Amino acid sequence: MTTPTNTTPKFTVEIEEATAPIYDKVKTVIPDFEWPAIAPYVAEINRLKKEKNAVILAHNYMTPDIFHTVADYVGDSLGLARMATETDADVIIQCGVHFMAETSKLLNPSKTVIVPDMEAGCSLASSITAADVRALREAHPGVPIVTYVNTSAEVKAECDICCTSGNAVEIIESLESDTVLCIPDQYLANWISKQTSKKILTWAGSCEVHERFTGEELRKYREQYKGDITIIAHPECPPDVIEEADFCGSTAGMINYAKDKRPKRILMVTECSMSDNVAAEVHDVEFIRPCNLCPHMKRITLPKILESLRTLGPEVTVDPEVADRARLAVEAMLAVDEERERRIKDKAETKTTQRVA
Ligand code: SF4
Repeated sequence: MTTPTNTTPKFTVEIEEATAPIYDKVKTVIPDFEWPAIAPYVAEINRLKKEKNAVILAHNYMTPDIFHTVADYVGDSLGLARMATETDADVIIQCGVHFMAETSKLLNPSKTVIVPDMEAGCSLASSITAADVRALREAHPGVPIVTYVNTSAEVKAECDICCTSGNAVEIIESLESDTVLCIPDQYLANWISKQTSKKILTWAGSCEVHERFTGEELRKYREQYKGDITIIAHPECPPDVIEEADFCGSTAGMINYAKDKRPKRILMVTECSMSDNVAAEVHDVEFIRPCNLCPHMKRITLPKILESLRTLGPEVTVDPEVADRARLAVEAMLAVDEERERRIKDKAETKTTQRVA
């Protein structure tokens, strides 16, 4: 493991003792011989977080050494966006890719938002520009434009509302129009179109990680395990992969599925660090990991997080005029989501009242 500074923290007896409870959480996925290289970073990052009143928001695709040892909040894009609205920390360290840090900045304009590697991009976010969206709007007048959260702030600023894979169907259904433009992920749009009567128009973007999976590959896994395998896939996967899967949902949905259903053996068809993160907590399920890594997510490492805390950089900024417009699209999504949660809560309370009566 290399560090961007020449002040590499050292493994000492004190650090070994102080980090022992943390190692306990990851011992099934991080070998003990690796811990002496990791623990000094964990100890120093956790110390500096307190000193600088910083919070670490980590996406489900972070490696277990980040996800389970230094993150304050973990989740999918939707969960992290919500957490970004709730934190009272002065500094947000976004352990994910650039568009996620931008979303946190939009929701917290007065806070310092940092992404430990500015080059952590996303093939979906780079597949479309603000000018492309303006051209789409001209070509489809009156059709609302829903952007997946995996886009730049400039693109969000041109759209009516955001969505994530966790709430995409509800967002589309919340719109009055019978036709909706859903950008930029063609596969997510295709998955949504199977669950709504609305006409879905899309863009030819795709995730470079999920598009590598194939239905044929999954059928081979089924054959190898004689059918005794549960396949769960992310909606960024191509249609033949989703057809072959037993369940399709956001990263949070996939994690909940694994934790709630606890099948004997799961193949998680998504970025492979997520299987490690769930495996660290769910010990009675065997995880099969076809390892497709996201090169952008993997740019985020403990040494870079430590460097970010030491220097409070690199800071993510968004042009205030763009931010004001992009924020409307993100807040519109969060409003639909809150309304959905309120309805679910009301329904649950009504059921409880009926049972008591
Ligand atoms: S996994 Fe795909 S969608 Fe997620 S950040 Fe990487 S390239 Fe983008």
